[in-house]
Amino acid sequence: MPELPEVEVTMRGVRPVLEGEVIEDLWHDDKKLREPFSPRLNELIGAKVANVSRRAKFILVGTDKGTLLVHLGMTGHLSILRSPGERLKHDHFELTMGSGIVIRYNDARRFGLVAFIPPDTDPLLSDYLKDLGPEPLSDAFTPKVLYEGLQRHKKSVKQAIMDASVVVGVGNIYASEVLFLSKIRPDRRSDQLSFEECRVLRENIRSVLALSISKGGTTIINFQNAEGKMGYFVQNLNVYGHKGEKCPVCGTPIEEMTLGQRSTYFCPRCQK
Ligand SMILES: [Zn+2]
Repeated sequence: MPELPEVEVTMRGVRPVLEGEVIEDLWHDDKKLREPFSPRLNELIGAKVANVSRRAKFILVGTDKGTLLVHLGMTGHLSILRSPGERLKHDHFELTMGSGIVIRYNDARRFGLVAFIPPDTDPLLSDYLKDLGPEPLSDAFTPKVLYEGLQRHKKSVKQAIMDASVVVGVGNIYASEVLFLSKIRPDRRSDQLSFEECRVLRENIRSVLALSISKGGTTIINFQNAEGKMGYFVQNLNVYGHKGEKCPVCGTPIEEMTLGQRSTYFCPRCQK
């Protein structure tokens, strides 16, 4: 599943071919993604793209006629096509820009989303985005904000940092990794962490996500960045997917447990 770094990399990939350009045409099929395509999407034909940004795992394409919101779901990806060929089976949506470049959305499992936000609505206040917690790489995500967020929950710290009301964009792979780097057991109750542990955890959330973005996103089945290249972060994973292998710090075999129905990896010796 594309996580925040993959979405950021995708957003940075499509931004230069969208910003300042006019949407000449827009096509979608008649299947539904997470939601049906809105008939109002056609209002974007002829619109000029003012800015492209990201909030959590949503890509926002702001225009003078409304905002296009794209979520990649489980298997979605955007391709930049300079000479678009035939559409493939799982191609569901595309924009043809005035430059002739086509941005095409492919999603085999169709858990993604393509939505229209009218020009009189602030997209950040729309139902899709209004309840989201802070961006992990923003100044708003302070140690205090994380500490208070974790205090609100009694669930495991791993489930709490994956809760978008605490902080957005910490997916399953990154949650295991940041807790390993922070020497915190994933099944600790979130409201039992000290302020100092939250300070360390917040630093590691930021550094792991920033590193992954700089590397082009994690390698996950089906993820391709907007230029069609696979990401390549997998060599930096310390614990995720390494059950039974030696901890890179102390040599103890990495263990796996299930939290919130998700696979979780940790070192039973390093993480307290
Ligand atoms: Zn260890």
